[in-house]
Amino acid sequence: MLKAVIFDLDNTLLDFSGFKRESALAAARAMIRAGVKESEKELYARIFKIYDERGIEYQRTFGDVLYGISLDQHTLEHARQAAIVAYQKRKYDLLKPRTAALQTLISLKSKYKLAIVSDAPRDKAWQRLVLTNLDQFFYPVVTFNDTGEHKPSQKPFEKALKLLKIKADEALYVGDNPERDIVGAKKAGMTTCLAKYGCIGYMPELNVADYSIDRIDDLKGITEIIDGG
Ligand SMILES: [Mg+2]
Repeated sequence: MLKAVIFDLDNTLLDFSGFKRESALAAARAMIRAGVKESEKELYARIFKIYDERGIEYQRTFGDVLYGISLDQHTLEHARQAAIVAYQKRKYDLLKPRTAALQTLISLKSKYKLAIVSDAPRDKAWQRLVLTNLDQFFYPVVTFNDTGEHKPSQKPFEKALKLLKIKADEALYVGDNPERDIVGAKKAGMTTCLAKYGCIGYMPELNVADYSIDRIDDLKGITEIIDGG
């Protein structure tokens, strides 16, 4: 019997990649306004190069981009803070739940416990939940800081099960990343559902999930199938 639906956060419940692209663009434009003589395209590429090298949650991206360009101290500081503010502003505008996420969670919450297992740092995960008004739905919220291990380690999944006081086969895990979310949840013994709509460069051969959905509101049907046996 299904007792809990556990979610990945970024790209599953919210459009994290879209937000990262738009906010990087806003930061690049702010750097140019502050006097950096590079093209928007070049600065945007440099921002994503650092994300690729350091991870998408890296916190010193704009400084690293600007240290890589020959700038006087005044312009560097101006551009760095302008980029940070532009990024934050776009974050507040853009970070929204996926379409139909709210209705889906309200509906699921009437039958199941809802939880999060995310690779994001604890404070970032919570900020995103609060910003998207999704902060009331979940217990527990397991983040990278809770185990010090990223998915597909089974540790964060096991931590969530322990706090939920349920067994692995009573949980459905929903995530957009086949190799981290689905493989990790499977290792922990959970039933899995791939959020295909959040998958970047979806490859069917990598999809080992028990179920797949093209929209978040398809999840209700999946839980009914699981519960119906
Ligand atoms: Mg994700």
